[in-house]
Amino acid sequence: MIRINEHYLKLQSSYLFAEIARRVTAHQQAHPEKPLIKLGIGDVTHGLPEACIQALHTAVDEMAADASFRGYGPEQGYEFLREAIAQNDFQVRGAQIAADEIFVSDGAKCDSGNIQEIFATEITVAIPDPVYPVYVDTNVMAGRSGGAVEGRYEGFVYLEGHRGNGFIPSLPHSPVDLIYLCYPNNPTGATIAKDQLQEWVDYARENKALILFDAAYEAFIRDESLPHSIYEVSGAEEVAIEFRSFSKTAGFTGTRCAYTVVPKACHAYDSVGRSHPVHSLWNRRHTTKFNSVSYPVQRAAEAVYTPAGQQQTKALIDGYLVNAKLIREKMTALGFDCIGGENSPYIWVDGKSDSWTFFDRLLTTAGVVVTPGAGFGRCGEGYIRISAFNSLENVTTALDRIETALKE
Ligand SMILES: *Cc1c(COP(=O)(O)O)cnc(C)c1O
Repeated sequence: MIRINEHYLKLQSSYLFAEIARRVTAHQQAHPEKPLIKLGIGDVTHGLPEACIQALHTAVDEMAADASFRGYGPEQGYEFLREAIAQNDFQVRGAQIAADEIFVSDGAKCDSGNIQEIFATEITVAIPDPVYPVYVDTNVMAGRSGGAVEGRYEGFVYLEGHRGNGFIPSLPHSPVDLIYLCYPNNPTGATIAKDQLQEWVDYARENKALILFDAAYEAFIRDESLPHSIYEVSGAEEVAIEFRSFSKTAGFTGTRCAYTVVPKACHAYDSVGRSHPVHSLWNRRHTTKFNSVSYPVQRAAEAVYTPAGQQQTKALIDGYLVNAKLIREKMTALGFDCIGGENSPYIWVDGKSDSWTFFDRLLTTAGVVVTPGAGFGRCGEGYIRISAFNSLENVTTALDRIETALKE
């Protein structure tokens, strides 16, 4: 008899986006004359940078001729891309990451979901609240939690974010083995300072724990004092894995290219306490189960690091940051406390009522769709996430409508 992985039965249905869609559709059917503006999206909206498009075209033409055609490439990614990443994203910032510590992939979502399979089932996992749901669900699937009780899984250690700590959780009170951190944060837009990140790295070193650091939004950092990578913090290469993606950095959400950094100095332990390099485990997993990203897409990603690519991606993100600033300023002027929106495309707004009530109010009175914070965890209750991923025109119109609606 074929049996299922019953851990899947513990998963709570992804109620958030289905419920948003249901309420939006109901509203649209009742008021078809009023076009909605969506500021709830976690996806980019502008076209790819010209440098990437040119590189794609050239690589596609190479694939047409026998002499320049490429079949299977190295599973870890082409050397040209790994070198460009190591140099431009790490070495220039003083982080000693080498090309062979970079694993190119088709997404930080899959990497952050897949990585946990190289660790034991019995470990204790620390997960932020509010959180990007992938970290939670993949550990439930793997059997690292009990069932769900009032929206939380038994067995996980929840790292609570709230106004008091600026959505930077404090260190856990009970021992944990695997820690998820994401900065600049989705959904809160909060950023972490170097000394705060150092505390987590020190904790991991003292407790033989490992940090999974999701830096998908590092390109939105404009404050020079903030770390772009966890490897800018001393000792991190021994206790941290970092996820990066071209999705938000260069508009690759539909093109697909990302990478994971596993330093050779990073170790984990077997049941008798012997240490093993995590790099060799991940290399084994990656080469066994993955055949890398298509050649044209890796060339497009490489083009991000050319002078033209750097200038164009910066312009792209600067555009989203202009939107973010407008949103933050308007919501603040309307009397709401905001986090994020300065080094992040997300603005986390204290709605001064429960998340869904504020969501409904903005939908029905302003025709603007946001994301209820409660959908990202218990600590998100009372907040909404507003996304800057839209055109300047739509953002301006949405803010005008919100102002009018809330003043009524
Ligand atoms: C968008 C996003 C990613 C990127 O995922 P891809 O699979 O690379 O598109 C990773 N982490 C977080 C928190 C995100 O919001």
